[in-house]
Amino acid sequence: MKIIEKAMCSGCRTCVYVCPVKAISVETYRDGFEHIVIDDKLCIQCEKCKSVCPMLNGNGGLFGILAKEIIKNEGVIYGAAFNGNLKLKTTKAETEEELYPLFKSKYLLCDIDDKFREIKKKLEHGKQVLYCSSPCQIAGLKLYLGKNVEKEYPNLFLIDFVCHGVGSQSLFDQSIEYTEKKKGD
Ligand SMILES: Cc1cc2nc3c(=O)[nH]c(=O)nc-3n(C[C@H](O)[C@H](O)[C@H](O)COP(=O)(O)OP(=O)(O)OC[C@H]3O[C@@H](n4cnc5c(N)ncnc54)[C@H](O)[C@@H]3O)c2cc1C
Repeated sequence: MKIIEKAMCSGCRTCVYVCPVKAISVETYRDGFEHIVIDDKLCIQCEKCKSVCPMLNGNGGLFGILAKEIIKNEGVIYGAAFNGNLKLKTTKAETEEELYPLFKSKYLLCDIDDKFREIKKKLEHGKQVLYCSSPCQIAGLKLYLGKNVEKEYPNLFLIDFVCHGVGSQSLFDQSIEYTEKKKGD
């Protein structure tokens, strides 16, 4: 049985302690992080682990709670997610699965691509849109949409966060290249 995708596990260990047959243990991987491992031979499929997993039971941050409500209303979420090449891009999510890569802080400037244009179109089609980003990008979207943004787009929901500034994608790329060369991997 699997409780949750490895990348989504917060490592809180509640599942380890709640399991009545001690089928769940913790392993430290090469990356130094701990992940839970389930022994399928011992597991009795009671799913107590799932019932106490904070990541599965909506006890995450405010962003996740609001985003799930918008998805229930068939709305669209925009937030920051890494693509396959580790470039941070403003990314659309229309299902809970698509939402997961948007969670958590990434300390880089997020590339908005042409997403402001896409957001405007969605709003004009009457979709609910939730956009979470740094204060400068939220302010940028409001200015892009025009002076009467609150009146014109009651279906737009904006969240910004406390932000002291962002790192550059280029420095991040250089740091990956340096690490790959150093490790030969
Ligand atoms: C660049 C940056 C600077 C921050 N500076 C501070 C600080 O000075 N003090 C402080 O207390 N906290 C700071 N934070 C933390 C921030 O307040 C937390 O992200 C927030 O509290 C998490 O709330 P949550 O659990 O609801 O969000 P989560 O569920 O973790 O979702 C995070 C949301 O933030 C968006 N996001 C993540 N990274 C970026 C990014 N690089 N650009 C645009 N959007 C992004 C995601 O799309 C998602 O919508 C900073 C975060 C970032 C990304």
